Amino acid sequence: MNLNTLETMELTTMRTDMKCAVCDKHKAQLKPRKSKLTGANLLLCVSCFEKKFEPRWAIIVVARSPKMGGLVAVRDYIRNHRYVGEKIRAEEILPR
Ligand SMILES: [Zn+2]
Repeated sequence: MNLNTLETMELTTMRTDMKCAVCDKHKAQLKPRKSKLTGANLLLCVSCFEKKFEPRWAIIVVARSPKMGGLVAVRDYIRNHRYVGEKIRAEEILPR
């Protein structure tokens, strides 16, 4: 096995290990997007990308943080279920 083979293997592994930041599934094709909510660079699968989804956890973090925009910033995401997973509950986003 030469170095080239090793490099190829690593690249292949990397590619198959890539998960969508929203639905957490392994996908062959991911598209980069800067999160509108957190500013983080995300890799999204085509489906989540086209639906303009954000990670569920990111919506919760922003909703709970007045500094990051609070509930107003994510209202549309919550109302239109623009994330993957269970419906976000009030207990998850309201301050304790
Ligand atoms: Zn996805």
